[in-house]
Amino acid sequence: MANTVSAAELIERWNQDITELYQPHAWLRVPRPWLCITPRHTEHRAASIIFWLKVDADLLGCPDYVRRAIVAHECGHHRNLHSLIPVLTVPALSTIDGVLTRIGAPPHSMAYYAGVAVGLALLGVTTVILSSWKEYKADAYAAQKVGTDNVVAALSWLGEDRGTSVLPKELERRIKRLRST
Ligand SMILES: [Zn+2]
Repeated sequence: MANTVSAAELIERWNQDITELYQPHAWLRVPRPWLCITPRHTEHRAASIIFWLKVDADLLGCPDYVRRAIVAHECGHHRNLHSLIPVLTVPALSTIDGVLTRIGAPPHSMAYYAGVAVGLALLGVTTVILSSWKEYKADAYAAQKVGTDNVVAALSWLGEDRGTSVLPKELERRIKRLRST
């Protein structure tokens, strides 16, 4: 007879993994994340969002090593409050305006708009660097908790599960970085 596992039992496994694999920062004692199941298959199929560890329902029954690597990776984001980093965009935008006003670029002048364009480009570059750094930190935490080989295997599984044998560029980069450490 096929050994079917109920959704409640699967959710219990995810919660047990969070309990086992989440370790708060020594000086930033963020409580463990709450598991939140989303019904749709989304672009970011698992994510750390403020207090929650969000997982798409179609990932619930994934292989054990994939589940544990996902939980460890998202716990790595959660303990460092990575999901709050985009909030910093707001003060960054007002800083661009403040700097331009200070250096005397009149609002609605060419100089002002050129300054805004440069400021936004810098902000864009910083965002890309920060987002790559966040993934690196979360992968390093996951590798420490469940082993580098398991994280690499889980990333490959996630890449293949997107319906293509070619890994998306970002996953490829992360695998390469994990293997080089
Ligand atoms: Zn991540």
